[in-house]
Amino acid sequence: MVSQMIKLSNTYGLVLALAISIGCSSKKEITGSLRITGVNIIDVVGDGVSKSPMDIIIEDQRIKAIEESGSYAVNDNIETFEANGKYVIPGLWDMHAHPDDPEIWRMNPKDEEKDRLLTLLVLHGVTGIRDMAGDLQLAKRWKRMVLSGELIGPEIFAAGPLIDGPDPMWDGSVGINGPSNVRQVVDSLISEGVDFLKVYSLLPGDIYLELQRYANEIDFPVAGHVPYDIRPSEAAQAGIKSQEHFLEILKEVSTESDALRVDEIDYGNAKSRFEKYLFRNQLMLDTYSEDKIKMLFELMAKNNTWHTPTISMWHKNAWFESEIKEDTALYRYLPPYMRRYWQIGENDHLQNRDENLLKLKQDQVEVYSKLLFKMYLAGVPLLTGTDMGANPLCFPGIGVHNELEMFVKAGIPEIDALKAATINPSIFLEIDNEFGSIENGKIADMVILNQNPLDDINAVRDIASVIKRGEMYDKGSIREILKSIEQEFKQ
Ligand SMILES: [Zn+2]
Repeated sequence: MVSQMIKLSNTYGLVLALAISIGCSSKKEITGSLRITGVNIIDVVGDGVSKSPMDIIIEDQRIKAIEESGSYAVNDNIETFEANGKYVIPGLWDMHAHPDDPEIWRMNPKDEEKDRLLTLLVLHGVTGIRDMAGDLQLAKRWKRMVLSGELIGPEIFAAGPLIDGPDPMWDGSVGINGPSNVRQVVDSLISEGVDFLKVYSLLPGDIYLELQRYANEIDFPVAGHVPYDIRPSEAAQAGIKSQEHFLEILKEVSTESDALRVDEIDYGNAKSRFEKYLFRNQLMLDTYSEDKIKMLFELMAKNNTWHTPTISMWHKNAWFESEIKEDTALYRYLPPYMRRYWQIGENDHLQNRDENLLKLKQDQVEVYSKLLFKMYLAGVPLLTGTDMGANPLCFPGIGVHNELEMFVKAGIPEIDALKAATINPSIFLEIDNEFGSIENGKIADMVILNQNPLDDINAVRDIASVIKRGEMYDKGSIREILKSIEQEFKQ
């Protein structure tokens, strides 16, 4: 301003310069490291887009200010992204992820290959995950590397090992032999640094209930599969924090529920284990009771029992043969061990794929979609999750886009689908003072989109820029990093 004043020689100019100078000094000065100008903020705490495009000023890792364009002064060396009417959403969360899935350990993955999965998540706008089982030491190493900036990756909340029955389903699980062992197992997991306890399907009912009771006593969260022995309503009442994948729901709401639970159903001509599996699951699709569904979902809502449906995982599995054609192009970003595992004949989730099984699975997805909408209407709090890892076609990051699309296809409004991927995970994890929305003081995790996701949720796929803890990855750098990952994984 001083140099400008010197250049102006006549009186009029001087007066004008003074006026500008006074105008300038009245503007508040904000310092920052990154600024996004003219961006429409999707307000996931309220119900929509900001009134007019705003500027977001970020300093280091946090949102410093949200201001109207031109209403403030800022330091010259600030990095600026001109959004020009684009849209910004908070960073997305994958609340059911397995970057180190124990199921896939037999393919001998290297740690560096798994590291890339974390980077892929961020490049697709996923800035936080709940790691639903894997090697705890690796998860802890990841947390350190991400925080220190050594690795581009999301925030991580990790379960460590699955907690299963005496004869666990997967490698690396902790098997509990009886209720008397619960305390020792839980205490040792907590002392090793798990963020929550992930219970699994084969956990006997009495052991689960004792584990849940003890966890409640010490106020430590339990999440995961409703064990085969337990009804979703029982788990909800016992205090489980989140249930996953719609498991055990159709069994509970069937009019044949009692017979199904003790496996005393008339199998007719079904003889083999596989035939019985088909028969039992078809029976559940044919006999669900609307009244029972209503009662169950109202109970879940009342108990604040969250649900992570991972419906895109069910969809990709049911339609694998056709979906893989569209998804093949994405395989180039996958570590080779994962590419190998996502094949029929290799993958535990792709067995016995005859036409009867495919029909059953496809019908199941349709019912799950209806259940998802009913959960939404009943007020069951929802989380987006993908089961990324061992499950075929559940791509890191893109899986969340697929999940959001399926939420909306089920009938959930775009804004509420987005909440399930942003503010809801933060509330669930009790970090909503720091994450989950675009507000002053919060950690700067956000995704700039070219189109409005409230018009079409698929706008989340069209990313202009990702900001992770104040670090910006624009389209150019995203493309570059993707290319280097592709190069690394070339066989
Ligand atoms: Zn899982």
